[in-house]
Amino acid sequence: MTLHTRPGRIEVVAGVMFSGKSEELIRRVRRALIAKHQVRVFKSHLDERYDGVYRVSSHTGVSVDAEPIDRPEEILRAIGDAVDIDVVAVDEVQFLDAGIVEVATHLAERGIRVILTGTDTDFRGEPFGMMGHLMAIAEEVTKLQAICVVCGDLACRNQRLVDGRPARWDMPVVMVGGSESYEARCRRCFRIPRHDEDQVALL
Ligand code: ADP
Ligand code: ZN
Repeated sequence: MTLHTRPGRIEVVAGVMFSGKSEELIRRVRRALIAKHQVRVFKSHLDERYDGVYRVSSHTGVSVDAEPIDRPEEILRAIGDAVDIDVVAVDEVQFLDAGIVEVATHLAERGIRVILTGTDTDFRGEPFGMMGHLMAIAEEVTKLQAICVVCGDLACRNQRLVDGRPARWDMPVVMVGGSESYEARCRRCFRIPRHDEDQVALL
């Protein structure tokens, strides 16, 4: 049994796609395991499933097993009143509802180190889900950037492409079953045409 002599804490790793959030989560989890800490890893359900097993996988191919969740309360249900858990890591936090704030706070108050990773801005460049709120209440925030695939500068935006063209501003934030893809881009190379801009373009 682990006695929590230190206070719990909330760490957020935020950034655009390809910025290395999953790599960083996996790095922190591996180091916690080396320290013989009890670690539970969760991942929101919207992401892909491999052979019925969930993993947090980085674009470089390394991965750790993760338990799938749809709702934040499922984290509490999964760990019950276990007293031996040192670290709870959650990936793809941007898809979870507002309950994640209460769940993360509760876990930290139980003395647990809570590591939350997620995309902090949506395809419009606006705050995604509860990420902004979580960044505010965290003890530590790590904000990562990717490399802009257009110009090579640091990228802070998720460029959504539909059929290879920049997605329009009025599309839904979460698209189900669409033929969309994403690129990391800097502020300058980011494109998000609005309805009125389409009209201008047609003239
Ligand atoms: P995230 O979880 O933030 O989407 P990952 O940890 O899965 O990021 O992947 C990060 C890795 O993706 C980098 O180490 C790099 O090898 C690769 N990568 C592919 N495209 C890019 C890009 N445009 N900018 C930075 N890294 C990229
Ligand atoms: Zn650029």
